[in-house]
Amino acid sequence: MKTIAIIGAGLGGLAAAVLLAAAGNKVDVYETHSYPGGKMKRYHVGGARFDFGPNTITMPQVFQSVFERSGADPNDYVQFEQIVDHTNNIFPDGSQFLASSNRAKMLQELERFNIHSSDYDRYITAVTQLYNHSSNQFFTRSFSSLKEYTSLRLALAFASVKPFTKMSQFHSSFFKDERIVQMLNRYATYIGSSPYKTPATFSMIGYLEFVQGVYYVKGGNPTIAEAMHRRAKELGVQFYFNKTVKKLKTANNEVTSLVCANNQEKSYDQFILNGDYTTVYPKLVEKQNRPSFTLDQLVKEPTSSAFVILAATSQKTAASFHHQVYFSQSYEYEFYQLFDEKKYPEDPTIYICNSSVNDDSAVSHTGGDNLFILVNAPSLTNENRTLDKEQMKEKVYSILEQRGVLIRPYLIEDKVVSPKDIEAEFQAYFGGLYGFSSHTTMQAFNRPSSKTKDFQNLYFAGGSTHPGGGSPMVVQSGINVANLINNHK
Ligand SMILES: Cc1cc2nc3c(=O)[nH]c(=O)nc-3n(C[C@H](O)[C@H](O)[C@H](O)COP(=O)(O)OP(=O)(O)OC[C@H]3O[C@@H](n4cnc5c(N)ncnc54)[C@H](O)[C@@H]3O)c2cc1C
Repeated sequence: MKTIAIIGAGLGGLAAAVLLAAAGNKVDVYETHSYPGGKMKRYHVGGARFDFGPNTITMPQVFQSVFERSGADPNDYVQFEQIVDHTNNIFPDGSQFLASSNRAKMLQELERFNIHSSDYDRYITAVTQLYNHSSNQFFTRSFSSLKEYTSLRLALAFASVKPFTKMSQFHSSFFKDERIVQMLNRYATYIGSSPYKTPATFSMIGYLEFVQGVYYVKGGNPTIAEAMHRRAKELGVQFYFNKTVKKLKTANNEVTSLVCANNQEKSYDQFILNGDYTTVYPKLVEKQNRPSFTLDQLVKEPTSSAFVILAATSQKTAASFHHQVYFSQSYEYEFYQLFDEKKYPEDPTIYICNSSVNDDSAVSHTGGDNLFILVNAPSLTNENRTLDKEQMKEKVYSILEQRGVLIRPYLIEDKVVSPKDIEAEFQAYFGGLYGFSSHTTMQAFNRPSSKTKDFQNLYFAGGSTHPGGGSPMVVQSGINVANLINNHK
């Protein structure tokens, strides 16, 4: 039995906690906030319930596997419901495309856009291959030893996931209609990146949404984190909420103990950092003791951030699907402004999640909608930090009004969560949602690995490390770390 400290109760930390405790280790989790789940968080605004963080859930099997591997039936903890016709895409010319994981329905929609089924089938075959290569060779690797980097299978897999083709180019090779390309290009934002710079590898998200499906958890997606917390406690994990770790003490290539903000110190055999690698690791370990974390890490480009409005309305609005996207006129210019100019786009694409469509318990007191409205935001710079939140919010409402979604006349209450709030609350790297962007091949394929080279007993799990940012990948990072520790006798 090992004693293990996990710093952070985000999804990566929770998954690792469950699996390490199930293997018989003594696990303690330290968390700054008062709740489990980190960015997967509940809000109550104007009498309605909201999910912050993951609104679109894919790959439910990854979350379920944490319960299964711990010897429990996942269905006793959390039930995933598939949303078949999942996302209504609304273009500036007024046309709409309802994306679905039902092939027949997709073909019907594509026919309205004069797209032949053979183009869709070619696209699905290609994204299925991207997914299969990535999941077989990348997701479950921890990249913790040189052997893992130099495997022939990895090299072959790398060559087959189109690392040097850009996502937008890839999508344009299947579809000529720019609206469809724009709809697919949005998948780059799932990793906080631009489709004009991101490798086509991440087009595999299309496979997840069109083949595996999009899911929601009744009672709100944060039920997933709460369920992992419950399972961890059943297995004896001790949680210390409202407790920030301020320092890791080290000696002879090992982390020896952690020190909390109240100066309480405790020793462990192993340590896992689930807080943002890019910002929390350098805070916890003195510079001379972490040679692998050099200054050049800090000049890497951050992912995009998000400007979020949580709006509770007294009536149902025109945002009548679980997920809907109001696209901008020029996607290319929007991403140029976001990443090259680091400005809020003049004409932003607006995403709205209205989970009350499938879960009226979220609005049982109001009878209206619970609108999670998200606009992609640039990572923080000195200039854009001064954003006037109220002005930006009114701009978003005005654009939505022009597109037929009236919110202000029915508004009970709203709340804005800005990039500065995300940075402050989650120590997010320049407010970015997932650490470093995936724009260069190096940044996309050489994310911080699950184990540091600096110490024999320090591991990383979370969205800013390997394998990546979306919530299933974050859970996979926790599984990978648990495997590493459990397999290292
Ligand atoms: C607006 C938004 C929308 C998103 N949408 C989606 C989506 O639709 N689908 C999807 O799959 N994903 C989405 N994500 C991403 C997803 O929420 C995250 O990738 C995932 O929840 C991150 O989990 P994590 O384990 O990396 O850690 P986090 O959630 O960042 O949690 C880390 C925890 O560590 C704690 N911590 C840090 N330092 C310390 C310390 N020193 N001491 C103690 N505790 C510490 C923090 O308080 C925090 O609770 C979204 C994220 C955001 C912000």
